Amino acid sequence: MFLTIGTTGTPERPATDLGFLLHKHPDRAQAFSTSHGTAHVFYPEASAERCTAALLLEVDPVALALVRRGKGKGRGGAPDAALAQYVNDRPYAASSLLSVALATVFTSALGGVCRSMPDRAGAPLPLRIEVPALPARGGAELVRKLFAPLGWERVEVGAVALDEQFPEWGDSRYVRLVLEGELRLADALRQLYVLLPVLDDAKHYWVAPDEVDKLLRAGEGWLADHPERPLITRRYLSHRWGLTRQADQALELVRLAESDDLDVDSVDNAVDESTDTEEKPVPLAEHRRTAILEALRGAGAHRVLDLGCGQGQLVQALLKDVRFTEIVGVDVSMRALTIASRRLKLDRMGERQAGRVTLQQGSLTYTDKRLKGYDAAVLSEVVEHLDLDRLPALEYAVFGSARPRTVLVTTPNVEYNVRWETLPAGHVRHGDHRFEWTRAEFREWAGKVAERHGYTVAHLPVGPDDPEVGPPTQLAVFTLTDTEIDKKTDKKTDKKKEAEAA
Ligand code: SAH
Repeated sequence: MFLTIGTTGTPERPATDLGFLLHKHPDRAQAFSTSHGTAHVFYPEASAERCTAALLLEVDPVALALVRRGKGKGRGGAPDAALAQYVNDRPYAASSLLSVALATVFTSALGGVCRSMPDRAGAPLPLRIEVPALPARGGAELVRKLFAPLGWERVEVGAVALDEQFPEWGDSRYVRLVLEGELRLADALRQLYVLLPVLDDAKHYWVAPDEVDKLLRAGEGWLADHPERPLITRRYLSHRWGLTRQADQALELVRLAESDDLDVDSVDNAVDESTDTEEKPVPLAEHRRTAILEALRGAGAHRVLDLGCGQGQLVQALLKDVRFTEIVGVDVSMRALTIASRRLKLDRMGERQAGRVTLQQGSLTYTDKRLKGYDAAVLSEVVEHLDLDRLPALEYAVFGSARPRTVLVTTPNVEYNVRWETLPAGHVRHGDHRFEWTRAEFREWAGKVAERHGYTVAHLPVGPDDPEVGPPTQLAVFTLTDTEIDKKTDKKTDKKKEAEAA
């Protein structure tokens, strides 16, 4: 198993600085023993202009197989299978074992730490990385999809013949990967650390729960937004559903925390943002809250969920009306919840008030028992923050599982965008909006959701209702039909009866 990392330099910034960044001296060949064999680091070239470090992992397939047998795996079975434990591609192909070696040998570089050259470690370098034999489950196309979004100028994926002397045998399942571009060394190493095992898709060691932490650490800055994130987490965690879900939730949090920072240039904020100057009138957000409060009062709701509560403005408004006896704000972003808690002064609130409100972290794309049994749920300006293909998950979690009697959903009306003077044509209102719907599109979605889950739906305008393009915000009020409410009550009585009978 083999990979090389190269860079170029100038007399002032010699390429051999790579040795400092990797914490391995270019003049020495060094060997390290890892759990699967011996890792060698050496430099095939080391001058001021060009410097290349090579990592070679010598795996002992016999020892590896013996270790496995020792753990009780691989005992017995067909003789062929037993032989395959000893004779396999492990010594040659860059797999999860190489990734482990990478982390063992280049720990500090992976962490972006370089005491002697901190500014060099923090800056992008011209890099060239080559992996001559990379097992690529999913083919060259997947390799490209995985590396292309990561800032490389060149991602070259070449086929490797099964046997060069017999071209008619065709290509092997390995590819030769060359990456070129200006990246921070730590970022490049972290990408390899995660993506080598993803491409191999067969971890050669036990996947422990702390793998989630390792993935999050190594994925910092690039994984949360990666278009292939679901595949990466699933394969990296060896298809273990529980761990994958854990990682996905954490990464969603990271993505949202990052997208929070985009707020500055969002149009909705220009109109809405009131974080610093609480007294300033805030037209659209105010309209929205008023419309929501009225609809909740009209529905006779007392116990209310604010799903995707953000920084807690609606929770604050709800607290002012004593008819709302229980208010639960839910958001996936810890940062938003921290701001909400500060806004509400939760820590200084009297006991009675504090007893009415809870803020909790959770993702709306997963069912959550804590959300069952409420009168109403509000999704104010939330659905458009989810990728369209995650909407069915939210739909099920809210309408199928939590199932409150009333659900209010607000979302921008994209037709109105032409009326925002500051919004360039064709732009959405907020950097993190995944989509914005026309009135017809929202109605279509809402109608189907209502039908699928036994609700009726009514639509209300929020803000000035423009005769041509409609209102800036659209509000849908979903109400559980009477038959569905009866079913719910029946189920409860049945359960009670069962309990009594038992
Ligand atoms: N409801 C507030 C905030 C809207 S911004 C208002 O009307 O002003 C959208 C909010 O949805 C953000 O706080 C974001 O963190 C949250 N959000 C987005 N996706 C989420 C998810 N999957 N689960 C929970 N909250 C989510």
